[in-house]
Amino acid sequence: MADDVADLVALGRDSSVRCPNDDLEFRPFFTGGACPLCGYRAEGRVGEPWTHRVDWVWVAFVGLVAVSILMAVIVFVAL
Ligand SMILES: [Zn+2]
Repeated sequence: MADDVADLVALGRDSSVRCPNDDLEFRPFFTGGACPLCGYRAEGRVGEPWTHRVDWVWVAFVGLVAVSILMAVIVFVAL
């Protein structure tokens, strides 16, 4: 299944698809991959911005560790 997804065309924010059911041209990037009128799913994989792909728990954890180290350095320099 994952191989099928990798073979599909990535639909970026400029890619538009015409729905065969209601002849509406839409951009799957902004509609979650589906036609906004009938829910028709376009062929291809819809690209996601990196802000949606990233796991923000790890970003917050790394930020917390970095701030902790910075605080420790500040405290030891002040001593
Ligand atoms: Zn449609």
